[in-house]
Amino acid sequence: MNHNVVSPRETPETTVDRQAWHALSREAVFSHLETGEAGLTTRSVQERLATHGENRLPEPPRPHPLTRFLSQFNNTLIYFLISASVASAVLGHVVDAVVILGVVVVNAVVGFVQEGKAEKALDAIRDMISPQAHVVRDGERQIIDARHVVPGDLVVVEAGDKVPADLRLVRASSLLADEAILTGESVPAEKHTGTVAPEAPVAERASMLFSGTILAAGQGTGVVVETGARTEIGRISALIGTVQQLTTPLLMQIDRFGRLITWFALSAAVALFFFAHFIRDYHWVDALMVVVALAVGVVPEGLPAVITITLAIGVRRMAARNAVVRRLPAVETLGSTSVICSDKTGTLTKNEMTVGRIATATAMASVSGAGYAPSGKVEGPEDPVRDRLVLAGLLCGDAHLKREDDGHYAVFGDPMEGALVTLALKAGLDPAGSRENWPRHADIPFDAAHRFMATLHAGPDGGRIVFLKGAPERLLAMCDRQKTAAGDAPVDPVYWDERIEEAAESGERVLGFAELVLPPETDSLSMDMLAHGLVFLGVAGFIDPPRPEAMKAVAECCSAGIAVKMITGDHGATAAAIARMLGIAENPVVVTGVEVDGLSDAELEAVALKTSVFARTSPEHKLRIVRALQANGLVVAMTGDGVNDAPSLKQADVGIAMGRKGTEAAKQAAEMVLVDDNFASIVAAVHEGRTVYDNIRKVIGWTLPTNGGEFLAVVFAILFGLALPMTPVQILWVNMIITVTLGLVLAFEPPEPGVMARRPRRRDASLVTPFLLWRIVFVSFLFMLGVFGVYFYALGNGDSEAVARTLVVNAIAAMEIFYLFNVRYLHMTSFTLTGLKGTRAVLLAVGGLVVAQFGFTYLPFMNDLFGSAPVSFTDGVVTVAVGVAMLAVLEVEKWLVRRLGWFADEV
Ligand code: ATP
Repeated sequence: MNHNVVSPRETPETTVDRQAWHALSREAVFSHLETGEAGLTTRSVQERLATHGENRLPEPPRPHPLTRFLSQFNNTLIYFLISASVASAVLGHVVDAVVILGVVVVNAVVGFVQEGKAEKALDAIRDMISPQAHVVRDGERQIIDARHVVPGDLVVVEAGDKVPADLRLVRASSLLADEAILTGESVPAEKHTGTVAPEAPVAERASMLFSGTILAAGQGTGVVVETGARTEIGRISALIGTVQQLTTPLLMQIDRFGRLITWFALSAAVALFFFAHFIRDYHWVDALMVVVALAVGVVPEGLPAVITITLAIGVRRMAARNAVVRRLPAVETLGSTSVICSDKTGTLTKNEMTVGRIATATAMASVSGAGYAPSGKVEGPEDPVRDRLVLAGLLCGDAHLKREDDGHYAVFGDPMEGALVTLALKAGLDPAGSRENWPRHADIPFDAAHRFMATLHAGPDGGRIVFLKGAPERLLAMCDRQKTAAGDAPVDPVYWDERIEEAAESGERVLGFAELVLPPETDSLSMDMLAHGLVFLGVAGFIDPPRPEAMKAVAECCSAGIAVKMITGDHGATAAAIARMLGIAENPVVVTGVEVDGLSDAELEAVALKTSVFARTSPEHKLRIVRALQANGLVVAMTGDGVNDAPSLKQADVGIAMGRKGTEAAKQAAEMVLVDDNFASIVAAVHEGRTVYDNIRKVIGWTLPTNGGEFLAVVFAILFGLALPMTPVQILWVNMIITVTLGLVLAFEPPEPGVMARRPRRRDASLVTPFLLWRIVFVSFLFMLGVFGVYFYALGNGDSEAVARTLVVNAIAAMEIFYLFNVRYLHMTSFTLTGLKGTRAVLLAVGGLVVAQFGFTYLPFMNDLFGSAPVSFTDGVVTVAVGVAMLAVLEVEKWLVRRLGWFADEV
């Protein structure tokens, strides 16, 4: 076949309207795109990639950085500040005007940088979960990045996949596609390979699969006809692919809170202005300057920015621990998770299967060796039934083993099926040869709903035989006879129950095998054909060891007050044994899917709380279990991978999809994707989520009282007719310099040691808790005390007003620094080695602030600008002492609060 690049638009004889692919026959599509059953060759793929470009939608245009920067100024507070600056300039207070402008610019730059940072974090994450496509190239099936799909590629899709490009179907088996994003139709569309009238609208093109839609059921193969921007979705891409909004409920709460404070500050400022002017006889210009400075100081304008950074850092830290957050609010919700419902296979266990035992009606055998390497043997008496079972296991599966260069064996396909190939090798079979001798003619693929798989083969003697493997109780219910060395006999359920229990109780996953002889020439397979004549061959036990890191993570959940529930499709006894090994429960309460069916919603609410293991469940049960747990007020994180898991993932407070074995449907429904499918990563994400929440509390707990302290000091001075301890421009200086230094560091705080030793935060807990409120009041008061203490100390010492005020500004800086060290640990003392050492961010910020304060105090031009004056060494020591005293008082407070058990759920 000639694999020249063909673009249907450019070659005259292939000029087809691109909307008519659905009307072409399969052969016509193959010939137009110069491809076939074996797919494209590597060379032609490269040529086509060069011609058509990568298969991705053009990025939605991003705002120009300048536009982004200017948009930072579009906010009420900034308008207020700019007006204040203009007013100051008009009134001749040029320095004040410039400093206020400085505050405005600093805020804009901080906002701009944080937005960029947060967006970069999200971009990086988007790349981490870019979808893949299964294609046939050079006659072989390959998994490639969906961006590298080209026209003419043969793409294989199945339920749960996201279609990577527009495809003309050449094979379809019970295919249903959810095309709501294109057609708005919520009922999945049925798909087939027949031609459709050329004028059919998109919603009726049953022979096509469209890029970006999700397969709800079935399997199929299609030829790529359009990629990238030329796909149907590409044509309307302006409507989708919108960048994720950088907002969360918490941010909105803070925004509202910030606005409240702004209005409070403005009203207080107006009242204060009149009071200062009419009662205290301030000149109206002076009064105005004071209240403007005060309002600027007290409004936490930087707060939302710092909190967004905190969230973005959380997202990045979670990604580093293999948990990719798709929706920002999940970062907060994760921190309050009180129950994690997890799959078993692959999440809590390694999903590295090895057959350890085989039981037939005739004999038992154990199998030695670990992993997929075929070193080991089947140890037991001669048993022809077992030989048949091993053959059935090999043929009724699609996995392949590959020996890597380092000698280790890797599985391509289902791990359990891989283990059956290993078993065949250990039993002396040649997998490739056996598959050739027993060619497969039809199959019924495995489905979690019917829990078995069947394949139809032509035997070496020309007869037809079906091999089945699946959940043993399911197969036993279908069989009326069992195979023995002496021929077929009636099935003995009691015997098999014992065998199954034996294996399951040691944590093995048990699979049953059966066969059915069909008349020669049979070439298709349906469920009805399996209704009679099935013969049970036996069972095999698979060892799938628990992940050691999952054990540690379960223990961590225990101390963190988070319940762990296993929800599995596996047998109850197997699941219970694994739950025991992992430490989920000593004697796990096991409830099966059938039992869940028998419970009303209200009954399930009570049962779900006590149950640690839900076994033999299907995805529908998951949804009911999530709801039942939520009805108990719990915040539920739930894992899932299949297309049918999407509803429960959406219902859960944090839906978690598997990155490796998860379908695209599950990933789209989830808030978070686990790159390594590992339970321990969920717990790591919860740990980070709690840290983020703590850090947000620290940011608030530090920002509000420091602003409040200045506010109180000035209000107090005016109310009681005292001299102002700081001039307006000095207030503005403190505010600006602290915003760029200390104001940012709490976002970078590492977790406190006991983060996972606390109970989860209540779902409805408000951000500004009683303890935080107390802190805001108490610390504001301490600040005021410090300010006046230093001020009167200096005046009493005979210092000038300028020196006294310089000392006040320095004392505020010192108190802010020491208070920062205190607030870094909300739950324990700060007097530890690590606590006192700080972090790089803390030290840099403190260093920056100290340098700025030295400049403020000793540089002549700063003295001119801000009315400051150099201070003596002793005065410097006093300043630091005030900060130390602040830390000491607050550490005693922290100790007392914990000792007396106040605010017990918070500290
Ligand atoms: P989890 O939900 O924890 O991942 P699971 O992998 O055991 O558990 P399912 O994949 O739903 O859950 O499997 C349910 C049962 O179906 C298994 O216990 C097994 O008996 C049977 N089964 C699983 N995979 C196959 C397969 N490829 N062929 C035949 N039977 C299978």
